[in-house]
Amino acid sequence: MKNWQYRERARDVLAREVGYVRKPHGGRLRVALAFPNTYYVGMSSLGYQTVYRLFNDLDDVVCERVFLPAKQELKAQLDSRAPLLTLESQTPVADFDILAFSVSFEWDYTNVVTMLRLAGLPPRAADRNTNHPLVVIGGAVTFVNPEPLALFADVIAAGEGELLIPALTRGVQSSSTRHELLRALAAERGFYIPSFYDVRYADDGTIAAFEPKAETGAPPVVKKAAVKSVDRLDPPATSIFTPDTEFGSRFLIEVVRGCANLCRFCWAGYNYLPVRAFPADRILELARAARSHSARAGLVSIALCDHPEIERILTGLLDMGYSISPASLRLDDLTEPIVKLLHKSGERSITIAPETGSDRLRRVINKTVTNDEILAATELIFANGIDNLKLYYMIGLPTETDDDLVAIRDLTVQMREMMLAHGRRRGHIGRIVGSVNPLIPKPGTAYQWLPMEDPAVTDAKGRRLRQLLAGLDNVYFNIKSERHSYYQALLSLGDRRVAATIEAAERNSGQWRAAVAETGLDADFYIFRDRSRDAVLPWDIIDGGMKASFFHAEFEKALRAEWTLPPKRQQENAKFLPVVS
Ligand code: SF4
Repeated sequence: MKNWQYRERARDVLAREVGYVRKPHGGRLRVALAFPNTYYVGMSSLGYQTVYRLFNDLDDVVCERVFLPAKQELKAQLDSRAPLLTLESQTPVADFDILAFSVSFEWDYTNVVTMLRLAGLPPRAADRNTNHPLVVIGGAVTFVNPEPLALFADVIAAGEGELLIPALTRGVQSSSTRHELLRALAAERGFYIPSFYDVRYADDGTIAAFEPKAETGAPPVVKKAAVKSVDRLDPPATSIFTPDTEFGSRFLIEVVRGCANLCRFCWAGYNYLPVRAFPADRILELARAARSHSARAGLVSIALCDHPEIERILTGLLDMGYSISPASLRLDDLTEPIVKLLHKSGERSITIAPETGSDRLRRVINKTVTNDEILAATELIFANGIDNLKLYYMIGLPTETDDDLVAIRDLTVQMREMMLAHGRRRGHIGRIVGSVNPLIPKPGTAYQWLPMEDPAVTDAKGRRLRQLLAGLDNVYFNIKSERHSYYQALLSLGDRRVAATIEAAERNSGQWRAAVAETGLDADFYIFRDRSRDAVLPWDIIDGGMKASFFHAEFEKALRAEWTLPPKRQQENAKFLPVVS
């Protein structure tokens, strides 16, 4: 696409938006904020929108957005070497002081490389110079395991934007050279400078040590930056409205951050502690201000009902005329008033995550609900007018047997009976849609040392489950194959030696099998190895606040099928995470 065509397209996109920020560049720190996927996907990300607002809230910063071009334009743009331009002012990305990526999904890693190439920058930090923008990579995945992206970043931002963005800006403004800046950031909480470390490997290929280089001042481990209390913070909320996203012009708002349940497989649960509720009054105030742009509120939180004033918030939104879409609801928090409010707001479907079918296996993973409680919640859902249920299950869990698969079927059958009974009374039957994913042991969880289950075993379980669920009318299951999860696991569990494979996959349009073969990477080493004897794990360079001894104790309890009950969740779990204010 020629530059004038791009400019015309950008103006069309902006014309359909409400709320974007346009500032003169003169005298300001210029930040190009990249989402490594298309506009449609990126603008659906509340995290991305929040970083944009946080940068632009600073008077001396101008932040503009840049996205991956749509598939049909991408090749032409790479071939033509037309520079990648920002949306707001259509300025080449390479002219900015900072190119910041917000990365939410492992599958977008190749897109980070593509966008660096489109911007005319060498993808690897070692090949760039001080005339290039400072490349900062942040986002949810990077504070769980930054290593697969480490060689592409000058700086990895580990933690929450509310703290990192002002600190990054201060650092840039007070440093006169790039090296001085990197040294200043290395001394701050939450900034990991990959080039400041040598990684030493043992003979068996595991990491022996991350060694900070002399004269860099880099710490042995980088402490994640997390906000202690959200009392004085604005809840992240949609600031740019456009119909051209996955959620249309939905008003997204974060209600509560974190979840105190401590499920042993859940990186989000462990990594967003402690649980922090945003002030209800401010949530309602922002919703009121956004009402003229949107009629639907999307509540983004992993444990919505952990907010002590959730009922007041739902009632307030309803009174403003919003229809409400919650994210997945935690089963133990579903109450009759909440289900009634959701139904009243127009919700026809509720998503819950039993994770597995047996109480025993739920104790193994520390999902602290029982089948009786799940069925009571199901009854509540269908009895209060909700037609459809979405369910999340996992397979490949530690100690799982065939009995646990049969238990998934049995539980689903009981839920279906409830749906049929209420549906018949109402005169129409809804549907149950199940989604089954193989467990990928995640960094920063009690399962971080576990190998992924043998694919032949997982696939056989998937087949068995299909067979068990066959013939159940109004029940639809999507059982993901191990093949899909394999390369996601590689990107999730890998270290910086995976970088060459990411580059190869970027060149060959995402053919991961060929990329692994081309680069000679032993992918099984990362995915199917028991890591319990490793001296250092790739993600140990970031200290997320949870102690390895705690994860070990949790893993032992998992094998004994014992719960760690979260009685007074917020207060109890606050102690796990040393945070800064
Ligand atoms: S309840 Fe959900 S969000 Fe909370 S720890 Fe468990 S899986 Fe994670």
